[in-house]
Amino acid sequence: MTARPSIGVLAVQGDVREHLRALEGAGAVVRTVRRPAELEALDGLVIPGGESTTMDKLVRAFELYAPLRQRIADGLPVYGSCAGMIMLADRITDAPGDQQTLGGLDITVRRNAFGRQVDSFEEDIDFAGLDAPMHAVFIRAPWVEQAGPSVQVLARVAGDGTGPAAGRIVAVRQGALLATSFHPEVTGDTRVHELFVEIVRERA
Ligand code: GLN
Repeated sequence: MTARPSIGVLAVQGDVREHLRALEGAGAVVRTVRRPAELEALDGLVIPGGESTTMDKLVRAFELYAPLRQRIADGLPVYGSCAGMIMLADRITDAPGDQQTLGGLDITVRRNAFGRQVDSFEEDIDFAGLDAPMHAVFIRAPWVEQAGPSVQVLARVAGDGTGPAAGRIVAVRQGALLATSFHPEVTGDTRVHELFVEIVRERA
């Protein structure tokens, strides 16, 4: 495998530019993905934050739905952040009837889970495998309501310690699939992107 793997960012909607920058910082050669053909030469893919209902519609309109599912089934490493986590989830608790996900991760997510008052918040979280805590930014984020036996939990929020958010799962890995409820691409901390680049290198 070349020293710099080729990683795409799904660019139909969402915070694409921030991920491109973070991935470059983490040692990848980056490109945007809008067409099925652009998926072919990739070693890995990032699905950014945004709005999963819109992203789902656009993925289907751009005829990316079937090719993306195929690449995921074939083992393409994919990292989904926030709306990207929702896209990778096998199950959503509260989706509009016509919302589909790409799936791949054996998790159930709850969209906009942290509620209206705490729509968006920040918290320092412990992330498995990293020695220093990570400052995590949550923007109308989902949480992982339930995770299957082959899903590795990488991070949870502390919240206030007692409320419904306390201890909720906010980062997971299953094989080559990685997902976070939060947005590491906006903080300048590239450790999640570095972890993803490492996963991509391992798999290539
Ligand atoms: N609430 C959004 C959704 O359901 C996700 C928010 C985000 O990606 N920042 O898709």
